[in-house]
Amino acid sequence: MNTFISAITFKCPACHQESLYENPALYTLKDLSKNKKCCNNCGADFQPEPGFYFGAAYVSWGLTVATWVAVLVALKCFDWWGWMEFGFLTHPVTFLFSGIGTSLVLFPYMFRLSRSIWAHFFIAEKTEE
Ligand SMILES: [Zn+2]
Repeated sequence: MNTFISAITFKCPACHQESLYENPALYTLKDLSKNKKCCNNCGADFQPEPGFYFGAAYVSWGLTVATWVAVLVALKCFDWWGWMEFGFLTHPVTFLFSGIGTSLVLFPYMFRLSRSIWAHFFIAEKTEE
């Protein structure tokens, strides 16, 4: 499994086998931020230092911008294909509510994805010798 697949499926950054999270279910919000302390398979430390995951906010910001751009592009495509009428300046409320709705639905995935990407940046991969 490569690092990209490992990051988007929330696997251990070191061995790509174990889940980063105690509860793999996405929409159980009370368990959303519960990371395992370490990997049960390879022993990699998932909490290298206190506050390690604060940096994931930068990743989250990037993913949020990407989500809003994707919503805008989707709405423009729907307009071109004649499915609905949409213009960025003529239908700002449509854009606003579509963006907010998409962000809310994707929130649990994006929250975990940003932490997973952050972990994959800073927790070293174990290579077989
Ligand atoms: Zn591991």
